[in-house]
Amino acid sequence: MSGGFLSRRALALAPSSTLAMGARAKQLQAEGRSVISFSVGEPGFPTPSHICEAAKCAIDSGRHGYTPTGGTPDLREAVAKSLSQKIGAPYKASQTIVSPGGKYSIYLTLLALLNPGDEVIIPAPYWVSYPEMVRLADGIPVFVESREEDGFAVSPEAVEKAITPKTKLVILNSPTNPSGQVTPPAVIEALGRLMEKRELWCLSDEIYDCLVFGGAIHRSIASVSDYCLDRTVVVNGCSKTYSMTGWRIGWIGANAAMAKAVDSIQSQTCSAPAFASQAAALAALTGPQDSVAIMAARFDQRRVLLHRLLNAIPGVSMAMPSGAFYALPNVSRLFGREFGGRRANTSLEFCEIALEKAHVAMVSGEGFGAPDHIRISYAASEKDIEEGCGRLAGLVGGMD
Ligand code: GLU
Repeated sequence: MSGGFLSRRALALAPSSTLAMGARAKQLQAEGRSVISFSVGEPGFPTPSHICEAAKCAIDSGRHGYTPTGGTPDLREAVAKSLSQKIGAPYKASQTIVSPGGKYSIYLTLLALLNPGDEVIIPAPYWVSYPEMVRLADGIPVFVESREEDGFAVSPEAVEKAITPKTKLVILNSPTNPSGQVTPPAVIEALGRLMEKRELWCLSDEIYDCLVFGGAIHRSIASVSDYCLDRTVVVNGCSKTYSMTGWRIGWIGANAAMAKAVDSIQSQTCSAPAFASQAAALAALTGPQDSVAIMAARFDQRRVLLHRLLNAIPGVSMAMPSGAFYALPNVSRLFGREFGGRRANTSLEFCEIALEKAHVAMVSGEGFGAPDHIRISYAASEKDIEEGCGRLAGLVGGMD
């Protein structure tokens, strides 16, 4: 079928390359192939047991209907408390909306903020879904390049140059997917002052805020000034902090009018998140937090291991990440070479060859605005990191 019946929106949309590669790796594993997956960013740890127990109790309680559209009152209270502690400013429950995943929180925020033609500044490299969601919401993504030698921290001067009368919003994501870098607090401060000076909104995706390493400091732009607090929509959730990707719980913290608008759109598009997942999220936020530090420590070890092993491969160079569980190695020196009879001229081609010849799944850099790089999620076991890097070393070492 031609697909000509589809909307312009659907035709223009690129499917998520992270989820596509994750699904491909899982499919190959299900077929019995020994694939090492460095693709989708999802912690492999089981969700802590006290969180699972809370969900089981919720199911057994017989409460199986809709919850209030923006989340249960107790969960919104807990989210407000968490935001207040992290940002150092008082959030009320009415300033929070709980949604089925941080990704949907981002999309709802864009729908609530953007008019057709509004420009949205997105520092590159960026997470694959930001530009597509901006376009779905009729906005125009405007990319501002950050440099590898600056640790991929976007320069406030470059952001200022990209501002036009149509600019409405800046999307920030620190710790950053895909580079794994944490934006320095001084840069956040300067971006906040710029936001205030040019009267912009900010969507600050802070989903990886509990995963910072080696002395890096996470600072939310919402903490820079009262203006920034009012005009920043902070996005966070359970997925990465508590290893709860499949539970689909995310949230926003915003000014009350913004939260109300997001709630209305959610009420018309998905009603509410699942009750059992909300009960689990409540247990995650209000229960013991020791699992968070334990998981973070494991990611920290894996980052060091990956950095050592990948940098030992000729033609591959990887900066040490300081947050999240991603690395963005530069593989451009491999372009133009042949591996097992196939030439890799692009990141996409290199990833295809790595999957086919070495059975290592990674996401190519093009979809992240980083065509010289590959995105590696090291939310994989130490054993898999060693095996995967060994296979890549074999592939690259055996290049023709
Ligand atoms: N954010 C994660 C990633 O980049 C999860 C998958 C997705 O939604 O993109 O791999």
